[in-house]
Amino acid sequence: MPKENLHPTYYPEAKITCASCGKTYVIGSTVPEMTVEVCANCHPFFTGKEVLMDTEGRVEKFEKKRSTAAAKQAAAKAKAPAPAEETQKRPRTLKELLEQS
Ligand SMILES: [Zn+2]
Repeated sequence: MPKENLHPTYYPEAKITCASCGKTYVIGSTVPEMTVEVCANCHPFFTGKEVLMDTEGRVEKFEKKRSTAAAKQAAAKAKAPAPAEETQKRPRTLKELLEQS
């Protein structure tokens, strides 16, 4: 007999759906239903096929981010002039610093 208010509700027939291949599984779980991105039916490890796992458009998101960043960088470069070379020679050692002053 499990202690009360300690154990989460157990669903002995929770429905798990795979978003990639649509296969459903019935398992025991603490949530009544759940969606997974990949399962044993469609994972490349089990299928032996090389596929790009991109169920949520993550690659597209990344490419978009990258192009936006590149555009921003280019704009910033065009706007700000190249930083002037540091003309003043900095003392590299304490001796040089003391000789300067
Ligand atoms: Zn699947």
